This record gives sequence, structure tokens and C-alpha cells, in this order.
Amino acid sequence: MKNEQEIPKEYCPYCGKNLIRILSEQEQKKYKLRYVSEKIGVSNWDSIFAWKCPYCTKTWRR
Ligand SMILES: [Zn+2]
Repeated sequence: MKNEQEIPKEYCPYCGKNLIRILSEQEQKKYKLRYVSEKIGVSNWDSIFAWKCPYCTKTWRR
């Protein structure tokens, strides 16, 4: 069964880049994940309070 619709869409609010990367078949097997989000968590102690875009390096609040 195809379940393409399970992959969320997530874009950087600043540069509009798609932050969801679909993994290759090998990676999907290796990591047991279908996709990863490329945004970077900015954390304070152990809680992430903001995200950073890897493309434009701007940050935004969760
Ligand atoms: Zn960006």
C-alpha cells in the first residue's frame, strides 16, 4: 500500500525551502524512517525552543 500522504510538508518561513527530505530505500531500512526534517533544533538545556533553517540559517520559534 502506498502511503505518500503521510509525509508532511514543512517549509522554512523565511526562504521557503522544503525542509522534509525523503530518505532513499537503503536509508529507510537503516534508520526505520521514511523522511527526515532538515531543520536544526536550537536548544536551551534539554528543550528545543527554536528551529534553524540549514539553508538560510534564520531561526524561528517553535
Ligand atoms: Zn530558510
